[in-house]
Amino acid sequence: MQSWNEHCLETQQRLTACSQCDLLLQEVDLAQHHDAHCVRCGAVLYRSARVRLDWMIAFAAGSAVLFLVSNFFPIPSLEKQGIHNTATLTKTALSLYDQGQPLVAALILATIILIPAFDICAMLYLLLPLRYGRLLPGMPMIFRMRLAACSWSMMEVFMLGVLVTLIKLSDVAKIVPGISLWAFAGLVILFSAINASFSVRDFWIWVNLIRCAERDHPNGQPA
Ligand SMILES: [Zn+2]
Repeated sequence: MQSWNEHCLETQQRLTACSQCDLLLQEVDLAQHHDAHCVRCGAVLYRSARVRLDWMIAFAAGSAVLFLVSNFFPIPSLEKQGIHNTATLTKTALSLYDQGQPLVAALILATIILIPAFDICAMLYLLLPLRYGRLLPGMPMIFRMRLAACSWSMMEVFMLGVLVTLIKLSDVAKIVPGISLWAFAGLVILFSAINASFSVRDFWIWVNLIRCAERDHPNGQPA
């Protein structure tokens, strides 16, 4: 795969515009953990790939597993005077709806469940085909939708709120953290890793390499 990638890169001129002074420059390949700076104003133009595609897929697949665990098991169990109560993420949103808080319930449902679920599915949809040298239909639209949606993911805020609530409730009831709570904490960490390592530039370079390969070898990948 490396040979046709290099061939493809050599046949193209990758240009980038400085975000600060609009100077148009030709991109050069960087060593790992290096940055390219504008020759006119010194602003950072782009960075070399921080992680490999395989790592990104592993982060997304791990997030999918933790997301399922965090949604199907109770977050905490509360015990007081023999009364045992548990709650899942979905049940939490439904409880708020039953208590006359439909807007808060909808916000929790959207920012804690629906948007993270879409984010994980979008990451797998975008990255897995790249791993096998394929492009699926609608990738640019899914990519833009993911960029717009991921800013609405509020899992870190929710996690902080849950921890504060559990600490306050620990004075009046026995709190037993469920497997979902640990899974959710792991999910927050993995999402942070994804957002820190996902590079828009790297993604489109990978897409461009495959497009180039498909154009040069329409009948399949060369040996
Ligand atoms: Zn500049």
